[in-house]
This record gives sequence, C-alpha cells and structure tokens, in this order.
Amino acid sequence: MTITGEHIIASTFIKSNGNAFQATNPVTGEALPTDFHEASETEINQAAEQAEAAFLVYRKKSGTEKAQFLEKIGEEIMNLDDELIERGQQETGLPAGRLQGERGRTVNQLKMFAQLLRDGWWVNARIDTAQPDREPLPKPDIRQMQIALGPVGIFGASNFPLAFSVAGGDTASALAAGCSVVVKGHPAHPGTGELVGRAIVRAAEATGMPKGVFSLVQGATVAVGQALVKHPLIKAVGFTGSFRGGKALFDAANQRAEPIPVYAEMGSINPVFVLPGALHERNQQIAEGLVGSVTLGVGQFCTNPGLVASLASEDTEDFLTKVQDGIAASETGAMLTGRISEAYRESANRMKQTRGVDAAAQGRSADVAAVSQALVFRSTVQNFVEQENLAEEVFGPSTLHVAAQNKDELLALAQQLDGHLTATLHATDDDLREYADLVGILERKVGRLLINGFPTGVEVCHSMVHGGPYPATTDSRTTSVGTLAIQRFSRPVCYQNFPDFALPDELKDDNPLDIWRLFNGEMLR
Ligand code: NAP
Repeated sequence: MTITGEHIIASTFIKSNGNAFQATNPVTGEALPTDFHEASETEINQAAEQAEAAFLVYRKKSGTEKAQFLEKIGEEIMNLDDELIERGQQETGLPAGRLQGERGRTVNQLKMFAQLLRDGWWVNARIDTAQPDREPLPKPDIRQMQIALGPVGIFGASNFPLAFSVAGGDTASALAAGCSVVVKGHPAHPGTGELVGRAIVRAAEATGMPKGVFSLVQGATVAVGQALVKHPLIKAVGFTGSFRGGKALFDAANQRAEPIPVYAEMGSINPVFVLPGALHERNQQIAEGLVGSVTLGVGQFCTNPGLVASLASEDTEDFLTKVQDGIAASETGAMLTGRISEAYRESANRMKQTRGVDAAAQGRSADVAAVSQALVFRSTVQNFVEQENLAEEVFGPSTLHVAAQNKDELLALAQQLDGHLTATLHATDDDLREYADLVGILERKVGRLLINGFPTGVEVCHSMVHGGPYPATTDSRTTSVGTLAIQRFSRPVCYQNFPDFALPDELKDDNPLDIWRLFNGEMLR
C-alpha cells in the first residue's frame, strides 16, 4: 500500500493544500518520502461535522456490532504486516521487535474492549423499580446507565506510535464507549498513522459503520490540535504526551464557551524508594534492574524511573557504584526525533548546572542522528526539596539518585512529590512494616504502586491504573490503560418512569442482553 500523505476525513482521502512537512528518520537524520500537509480549519470542521453525523448512528449500534468493528480494526492492522513495522522503524528508530510487541499490545487492547462490549456490564446499569404505594410519596421507577459523550478529539504520543496513537488505547476506548473519533496525527510518525488510519477505514466499511466514525487529520504545528479541541462539536479529548502539550489543550478546552473534559496523560518521574533491608539483601539485583528500566526504549517511557531515593549508607554507596557502572557501560540508540534528542541534552545540561547535583556517570551513544547518552545524577533529598527544577521530567535515559539522612527525610521527600503515574518500593516485609507511613503518603501521589519491580511495562487489564494526580494527568479519577478507560468517554443518564419498550435494552425488565445490573440494590444477572 502506498502512503499518500492525505487526511482521512470520513473515509475520504483528501490531499490538502496546507503547509507541507515530512517525517524524519531519527537514525539517519534523513527526511522520508511523502509530503504530509497541515490540516486547514475547513478540513478540521469537515472532520468534526462528519463525526457528529456518524455519532448519531454509531451510538445506537449494539455492543456486538461495535465489538465486531474493534476486532476488525485489529485484523486490518495485522494485515498491514511488515509494511507497518518498516514504516514505523523508519519514522521512530524503534527496533522491529519493539514495534511488533507494541502492535500485539494494540490489537489485544482492541480485543479487550470488544470483549467488554460483549459482556456489556461496563454501562453500569442500575435499576430502582417503582413503589407506587410508598408513603408519604410514591417512589418512581428510575434506571441509570452510561451513554457515549459524542465526538472525541484524540492526540497520540511520539513514543508509542501504535499503542498510544491512531488506534491506541484512547481511540479504542472512545470507539468502545460509542463515540466517533477525530485523531490529530503525531507529526513524528505520520506515515505509520496513515497506514493505521486506512486500516480503521477498511474495518468501518467491512462492518457497516457510518463513514465519519473515524477521521485522521495531520499537522506539524499546534494550530491543528488547538482548532480540534476548540471545535464546538467535539465533546471530549484524549491526549497522551508532554505536560506542556496536555496543559495547553486542557486550558483551551476550559476556555471554550462549552468547556469539555480533557483526559491528558502527561509526563512523570516515577519515584523509586529503595528501603534499607532490600538494599542490603538485593543490592546488585536492584541496581541491574534499575539500569535496565532507565535505558529501556532509550528511556522514552512515561513510566521511566527518573528519581531514586534511599538512605545515605554504605549499602547505598555500593548500590550507586553498580548503577554508575551499568550506566557507563550502556549504549543507547536513536531517540524518537531530533527535537526530543535536543530537549534531552538541554534538560541534562540544566541538571548538570543545578547546585548540589553531580553527574555521576554517562553512557555511550550509538552512531545515530538523534543521539542520547544514559545518565545518572546524584544529589540529596534536601537539595531536591529546595530546587524545583529537579522534580521535572527529563524525557530520556536518565535518573537522579537522592540520598536521605534518615527515615523522616525520606518521608518528607515523598510528601513533597507532585502527582506521578507510579511509585515503586523496593522493600522486605520488615521494611514495609517499618515504612507503612510511606505507602500511605504515596497512595495520595500516584495511580500505581509497585513493590520490588520496575515501573516500565504497563499491563493492559481490567485493574490497571495508568493515571495519577495532577500534573501526571488532568483527571486523576481515571486511567488511559485498561477497561476503566472507557468511562472517560461516557456519562450517566437516567430514565424515570419509562415504559419498558422505550428503554434501552440494557435497562429493560427481562434483561435481554443478560448483563450484570444493580437491581434494587442487589447485583443480579
Ligand atoms: P507532545 O510533544 O506533547 O505531543 C503530543 C501531541 O500533542 C502532538 O500531536 C502534538 O502536536 C500535540 N501538541 C503538543 N503541544 C500542543 C499544544 N500546545 N497545542 C496543541 N497541540 C499540541 O508529546 P510527545 O513528544 O509526543 O511525547 C512525549 C511525552 O509524552 C513525554 O513527556 C512522556 O512522558 C509523555 N507520555 C505520557 C504517557 C502517559 O500515558 N502518561 C505515555 C507516553 C508518553 P504537534 O507536535 O504538532 O505540536
């Protein structure tokens, strides 16, 4: 299949006149063939209008029909075969194995939401039947369920060109909820995005979905994304990317005449606390695991462990020597884009120039255009607490160790933290008893707490929380990974005293969909 550089607006491929841009291979630094074009306001408007028209039809499709659509998208993505992996490699510099894994995750995510739709319970049906004889007033019949919000604008991140992009978790959960979707393609991987977009169009056609259920507009400036978020027909936004981008879109959405929810999953430094017992018992193992997690994917994960804390001690010195040796021996590949490589260098330089911070070790870079070197910095908790810039995400293979003088200082560090996606404890059972307060503090700071592991690697399942308090996200009540993500794009509505035939199937007396429902306070099927 040829990549044409066209926008996909309601199954129509449109060659735009907007400013041209190309993707760049971060390994060679060369521009890739195919011009993409910045979407115009008219094109964004068309996509939003078509999404609204399609929504009216799509929201009424049954769970089974929507499930078939999601499964077909997965099939069509697999049918792209090596072409998708090759273009993905050219645009991102990520190795084929990583992209194949990410493709598997993307397809499994679509299947997971398809199964959720078949099971049907996600609508959270609640039924309180009437009590006409109740005194002093009769009780009406009230039935509640979740319904889709409307057309959703979606923004993918550069570091997951498949799993957090055109057919990633945001798109899958929005389509599952019954929303139509307009994706703003990421300019770092526009060709990969187009291939996946074409797969979605084929799936929509094959399963009889309305044309505007999916659109993809491309753009390399913030104007396209801003126009999409401000469009009055867009009713919610899913975003994965930087704090700067997510916050700007959140602000834009809140300044609209009709503010809309923005679910922005942003950066995080994912603190790791290595407690004394574990440090003594598993010094080597934790050091190796940490180096692996910091350098995985050239450190370009939102779950990258950017901050490590332990008590100042001989064990900590041993541990750091091992971490420094591991980092010094590492060689990292190309970063995703030249801009990200430059931003990484700038952040690292800022860190180096910060008072009380030692650049303790530096790895080697592969011979690539978008270079990077793994880094480990050292400082103290006191210094971290005093200097705000040390708490900022350095997007790349870098971590900062801070030494605490005592337990109170470690707790004070935790208390000082902003919201993050994850926090990790390396701990023995005795450590956990001794540091129970630390867990209590961290529960209020993050979406996922891990023991004796590393935060990179996010399981896609019902119970996953990939979110956390601001500034990790703009809404800590939800997640962008796992089935709970569907709730972001729905809202509850209740029907009072409706005759049975006029109710949605989910709420009818005889439960034709055979779903779990809260019936007069009891969970029944
Ligand atoms: P990014 O630069 O914020 O870009 C994401 C998307 O947002 C792009 O389409 C970008 O378009 C658009 N955008 C950015 N600023 C905007 C603005 N002011 N107005 C309108 N649109 C805007 O992020 P990235 O470089 O792709 O991703 C790296 C970051 O994502 C890291 O911080 C990483 O930690 C985070 N991340 C988080 C998660 C998570 O689940 N929490 C997952 C993966 C990555 P343009 O480029 O055209 O401006």
